[in-house]
Amino acid sequence: MTAKGLNLLVVEDDAFQRRLVVDMLCALGASSVNEAGDGKQALEMIRGANSRPVDVALCDLNMPGMDGLEFLRHVGHDQHRLSVIILSAMDGKVLASVGRMSAMYGIRLLGVVEKPIGLEQLRALLSAYHPLDSEGPLSKATAEFTLEEVRQGIRAKQFEPFFQPKVDCRTGRLVGAEALARWRHPEHGVVAPRAFIQLLEESGNIDDLTFLMLEQAVSACRKVRDAGHQLTVSVNLSLVSLDDTALAGRITRVVLKAGLDPRWVTLEITESMAMTKAGHALENLARLRMRGFGLSIDDYGTGYSTMQQLTRIAFSELKIDQSFVKEVAANEALRIVVESSIDMARKLRVVSVAEGVETQQDWDAVKSMGCDTAQGYFIARPMDLDSFVEYCAR
Ligand code: C2E
Ligand code: CA
Ligand code: CA
Repeated sequence: MTAKGLNLLVVEDDAFQRRLVVDMLCALGASSVNEAGDGKQALEMIRGANSRPVDVALCDLNMPGMDGLEFLRHVGHDQHRLSVIILSAMDGKVLASVGRMSAMYGIRLLGVVEKPIGLEQLRALLSAYHPLDSEGPLSKATAEFTLEEVRQGIRAKQFEPFFQPKVDCRTGRLVGAEALARWRHPEHGVVAPRAFIQLLEESGNIDDLTFLMLEQAVSACRKVRDAGHQLTVSVNLSLVSLDDTALAGRITRVVLKAGLDPRWVTLEITESMAMTKAGHALENLARLRMRGFGLSIDDYGTGYSTMQQLTRIAFSELKIDQSFVKEVAANEALRIVVESSIDMARKLRVVSVAEGVETQQDWDAVKSMGCDTAQGYFIARPMDLDSFVEYCAR
């Protein structure tokens, strides 16, 4: 896209610098350029009831009054669907974290440029602009459901696992799949977990879903293994379920009944809350491990006291959280964190998994760091059983 059709806003306190940018935009064919001397003024313009929505804001960070950071926060809070180009002379680390901050505020960052900006640079950044689609970070994603609706869906067995492939980083071969819950809603189509997991956990109903997933996942695993593919399947376990000391026995019975060796099943545990009854949880996990199940520490690096979990759970896999893996090639701090996690997994003699591998660069990076396995959109998106069976055959 060129500057021509865009509604642009330059936010910069220095009148000379501002003029410079405005002139360049006009040189690039822009016909609608607005100017603001600080964040407050910019915000007033954006909030103006009758004004045309701004497509791209070119924004300085350091400004007296409301600075660029606060401006971006308000823009995110108001849910204006802006793209932003930051004009600044700050160092790389600060700019990288401003980039993350913008993403968290639901703002898309087209780029960061050092002042003074060049014409070609500006042209390149603007050409990267495309209107945010409705799937963007601000969309409310899914309809909201009541607990009763979700439970009704579970009783009607409308929930099924989608499978996301895990591949060996060295050989590129498929080694397993993670089962991710999906609700095939009669009206809303396929609904993702964030619409129902928390609801089920908080109301003490998560086990119903867990076992529905487990049964289907192990039966799928059995099916593809019978077809000659040596795959494992991973199922997500909620921490709250571990309070019940009968859990390990129940899980084992389901797996054996399906004719599957527990060695082909990995249970993923997220440390998203403090363990309420740590003793019970550790008893369950030790028992599962004794029976041969794999245990994975999910979302490693986030949540509560993950280091502590490493020392007390007999786990067999470390799953590095996607927030570290995404863009790992471009960010030195991320690289160091991922590299150290892989290193630690190796020393603990457990399998390392990089989750959220989205691009060729991510893949090349985790591979070169010696990660064992990888999972992410770059390899494949989660898919239903039929598609997964087809995927295995290819
Ligand atoms: P998770 O266990 O960390 O699962 C990985 C999530 O990341 C999945 O989201 C997957 O679709 C997504 N993902 C995979 N590759 C990529 C990538 O390259 N880029 C990006 N941006 N995302 C990627 P999903 O399926 O929406 O699941 C969200 C969470 O819901 C899961 O996170 C898990 O914590 C929970 N969940 C899913 N199924 C179950 C379940 O059966 N039981 C329980 N207790 N929790 C579940
Ligand atoms: Ca998981
Ligand atoms: Ca995860």
